[in-house]
Amino acid sequence: MKILVLNAGSSSQKSCLYDIPDDRLPDHPPKPIWEGLIDWTHQAGVAEVKVEAAETLLKQQVPFSSRIPVIEQLLATLWNGSTQVIADRAEIHVVGHRVVHGGRKYHESTPITPEVKEAIEQFIELAPVHNPAHLEGINAIEHILGSVLQVAVFDTAFHAQMPDAASIYPGTYEWVEKGIRRYGFHGTSHQYCAERTAELLGENLNDLKLITCHLGNGASLAAICNGRSIDTTMGFTPLDGLMMGSRSGSVDPSILIHLIRHEGYDADRLDHLLNSASGLLGISGVSNDLRQVMSAIDAGNPRAKLALDLYIHRLRSCMGSMLASLGRLDALIFTAGIGENASNIRAAACEAFEFLGLKLDAEKNAGRPRDQIISTSDSKVKVLVIHTQEDWAIARDCWKLSRKG
Ligand code: AMP
Repeated sequence: MKILVLNAGSSSQKSCLYDIPDDRLPDHPPKPIWEGLIDWTHQAGVAEVKVEAAETLLKQQVPFSSRIPVIEQLLATLWNGSTQVIADRAEIHVVGHRVVHGGRKYHESTPITPEVKEAIEQFIELAPVHNPAHLEGINAIEHILGSVLQVAVFDTAFHAQMPDAASIYPGTYEWVEKGIRRYGFHGTSHQYCAERTAELLGENLNDLKLITCHLGNGASLAAICNGRSIDTTMGFTPLDGLMMGSRSGSVDPSILIHLIRHEGYDADRLDHLLNSASGLLGISGVSNDLRQVMSAIDAGNPRAKLALDLYIHRLRSCMGSMLASLGRLDALIFTAGIGENASNIRAAACEAFEFLGLKLDAEKNAGRPRDQIISTSDSKVKVLVIHTQEDWAIARDCWKLSRKG
């Protein structure tokens, strides 16, 4: 079965094609047979299209005024030219889309109908950069593949059944009525890591209490019980919670009132400040990339050191709040760019939880662990590093839904 996955972000469109058996899911995530990337920010009005397939790497600069024709041009490399991997577009059986915001209505992956498209459109207000990009992808597929099964895999779905106490903000009750509440994000990654953890531990996911730490440029934690998210750090938008690459995470809202009253800030300026100029970048003044912040620390930069100290403090305190929601912890999981690669962050985060009987194996942590347990054999809490595979998780849901239909 050929499954196409589209993962549209603000500045890029990632896509890949999986070829998996019709009758069973592989035990391990397979490598896609075709991978495509559009970088919309390459140059003003010019996108860079990269395709890797059939042992060929194709790179093209494509001038554009509208995005859909560029997406169509990218997809045509599946059945044309040096990167061709299928004879005909009709071989594509199902298309999965990562959709950032589905509100609370969708708590699982859903076949895309006109009603689902309308809902994605409705949530543009809450995901102004991402949801329009998802709709572009869906429309491009409709245009070139006609009535093929398309599936929306929502980032919010895994958190959509969080208890009210964890998801309602203590503002006024009007907020609840207006849908101003905690939605949570990175759901596909949190869910994939939880399932993979249960597999690696040989346990039933429903018996486990887990904290998954998705630490990438954007970062969030989830408290997982009975295989569902019962609490998470991102909120109404992906700005809440942890300190991130260039996002502040949670701050006292009065700071914003202060900036509006005394420094003339308006909504756009606040948006830029909190989403793009804060976090590791804002404090260090060096970069949103932890690797560069670490290099600056090595070179003696005190602001870079301060940024790292804040990052660790925020991470530990958010982990503590997830722990309190769970009441017990069986495993702690690290994933995404920082979670998978930064052994110093993992060690610092774990150190604060040694009182639980959590013991990190320093050697395993310092290696290059991937889908591996990095706690000692007598640790009361297992610690794992899982390589998150959001595209594969989307493909798996597509496979399951296409077999149901
Ligand atoms: P992601 O959003 O999951 O792609 O994660 C991107 C972030 O991971 C980058 O901005 C870096 O801060 C971080 N990262 C990637 N590799 C490393 C590494 N080897 N050491 C520390 N941080 C890393």
